[in-house]
Amino acid sequence: MRGQRVLRALLTFVLAAAGLTATAVTVSAPAAHADECYTWSRTLGSGATGADVSELQVRVAGWAGYGVNMAIDGQYGGQTTTAVRNFQSAYGLGADGVAGPGTFAKIYELQDPDCTPAHFSYAEASENCGRGLNGNGSVSLATARENLKRVMWRAEALRHRMGDHPLRVTSGFRDTACDAGVGGSGGGQHTYGTALDLVPADSGTTFCTIAQNARYAGMGGIFGPGYPGHSDHTHVDIRSGQVWSASQCGI
Ligand code: ZN
Repeated sequence: MRGQRVLRALLTFVLAAAGLTATAVTVSAPAAHADECYTWSRTLGSGATGADVSELQVRVAGWAGYGVNMAIDGQYGGQTTTAVRNFQSAYGLGADGVAGPGTFAKIYELQDPDCTPAHFSYAEASENCGRGLNGNGSVSLATARENLKRVMWRAEALRHRMGDHPLRVTSGFRDTACDAGVGGSGGGQHTYGTALDLVPADSGTTFCTIAQNARYAGMGGIFGPGYPGHSDHTHVDIRSGQVWSASQCGI
């Protein structure tokens, strides 16, 4: 009798402890978070491959280091590890280079339901002579949309690197006619959705600090003060390779 009572008490305790553990796991595991944009269902680290790695790479590519324009290839290699570690460090997380629940929680916090980063939007980045995002640039509408998302995540990293001072996008995607109309070639980076023209929106940044910091934020193209036609904005883009020119900023 006494033995049974002790056993029952023990069983109750174990079940309560198990219930508590299960609750804690549910709260912290990434699978439990139903994000409107994208939800990761496993922890990702070196050697991981897959579409979920690509989704992560899009969001951390602005943290891979000076002059590193990392590939979005679904392969969690050295550049991804570095980018994740720098992202974690920049947002006050434990920096181990492995993307787990804490890292994903920060990304969920930063991303809007349409997968753009918190401080940039498709609307602002596709004014396009009043026509909005369309498929009349150098790529399809879907590709332009994906490219814009990628450059906006790097701009989010750039913005955070500079102390979260607001940046305004004066031009992002432009279709062929719009690009030609504003003095572009009609086939430049803006027609791919890979480029943003940025201006400071407070006194915390300048055209030059934007250009200088963009070198650390995964930008393949940077044109600022000193480059013809770029005294009133700093152009950044995610072309492959590296073309930087802002002579008045030491670039
Ligand atoms: Zn531009």
